[in-house]
Amino acid sequence: MTRSNAVYKNSVYREPGPPLDEENPFEAMVKRFDVAAQILELEEGFYEYLVAPSRIHITAIPVVMDTGKIKMFEGYRVIHSDIRGPSKGGIRYSPDVNLEEIKALAAWMTWKCAVVDVPFGGAKGGVRCNPKEMSPGELERLTRRYTANLIDVFGPDRDIPAPDMNTNEQIMAWILDTYSMNARRTENAVVTGKPIALGGSQGRREATGRGVMTVTMAAMARLGMRAAESSVAVQGFGNVGSVTANLLNQNGCSIVAVSDVTGGYYNKGGLDITALLEYVAGSGGTLEGYPDAESITNDELLTLNVDILVPAAKEDQITKKNAGNIKAKIIAEGANGPTTPKADEILSDNGCLVIPDILANAGGVTVSYFEWVQDRQGYFWTEDRVNRRLDRMMHAAFEVVFDASEKHGVSLRIGAYVVGIDKVAAALRLRGIYA
Ligand code: GLU
Repeated sequence: MTRSNAVYKNSVYREPGPPLDEENPFEAMVKRFDVAAQILELEEGFYEYLVAPSRIHITAIPVVMDTGKIKMFEGYRVIHSDIRGPSKGGIRYSPDVNLEEIKALAAWMTWKCAVVDVPFGGAKGGVRCNPKEMSPGELERLTRRYTANLIDVFGPDRDIPAPDMNTNEQIMAWILDTYSMNARRTENAVVTGKPIALGGSQGRREATGRGVMTVTMAAMARLGMRAAESSVAVQGFGNVGSVTANLLNQNGCSIVAVSDVTGGYYNKGGLDITALLEYVAGSGGTLEGYPDAESITNDELLTLNVDILVPAAKEDQITKKNAGNIKAKIIAEGANGPTTPKADEILSDNGCLVIPDILANAGGVTVSYFEWVQDRQGYFWTEDRVNRRLDRMMHAAFEVVFDASEKHGVSLRIGAYVVGIDKVAAALRLRGIYA
């Protein structure tokens, strides 16, 4: 099903009905958008235009399971904006994927791309499924059919997917192949975060965590904090959390706690990150049973007495229930949407500096942009060049957002929305409204 913008606005976004849950992620995005739009004194029509997704695709995906039975899955792709360029954003596989979440994540991609100044709009996709219970063959068939159903949506100049929660290089390779077989030519720029052997970029896998590290170090410098005296807790030990932990550790910070779906692992004297990474690699991907740590709960991890907290798991982790107990001076959002608007207020009152998702985790899409450029040029960069350029762009974005937040006397989050929305609005003013 494809809904046009106008139909959409009259149905989902504007539909009168019961108020949305306060933790609804799209509402959480709109709340921050409202504040930034007021600061920018955004024209009313622009407000309406910029906040709503441009296109929503919902597609039924039949998959022949290993048992031989057909199972139906629901897939989404939300194009929030293509004002600044082709839309860009990951695809997630998870049992709790839903439209409101994908709409929010798509909008965050729009602001994120604008904040780091990569020439893309924003999109997000997802399939409601439990990838942990599916075989590689089932995942491949799901991915190929999802791609085939959305073949007219994707394209190197239209909409470019990437990995997100529970999707990886292999899944990107299947998207590339399905798209290319239909296009009758190999089109490697249709997707980013793919294997190096298929036109992926050096440094892409580590890019999100590397960017989190860069902005965290920049924030520490602003606050006069020294790495050697700083302790860190990282929620989530997937691609983003594990790389962030490793790089912050290499820069001198002590990582005292990490967690994954199996729980939290705490060592006051500092965890051995190399040992943790080796343990996870040898244990099928989880931290369960890691010996050199005390076991703690997820909530205990978030409220530990640490200097820096990195939520790198999923949305709605820091809420009004636990925000008041958070002791960290800096929160660097590796995940998208880990903090609710109510929690924002509490954290800000307590003087905690939150480096918002649309800045903190923008390293991933920045190197996705580098990957797309390299694919289109057919010329590939060294890892060193990728990392240097990433570092430069993340530093520049941090400074621009920090200055905007000081200028307007607002949080870094609102500063980042102001920077992002301003760029998209400027592009819209130049393009005008096609009639
Ligand atoms: N899924 C990642 C994000 O949320 C990366 C998106 C991309 O590289 O296009 O930023």
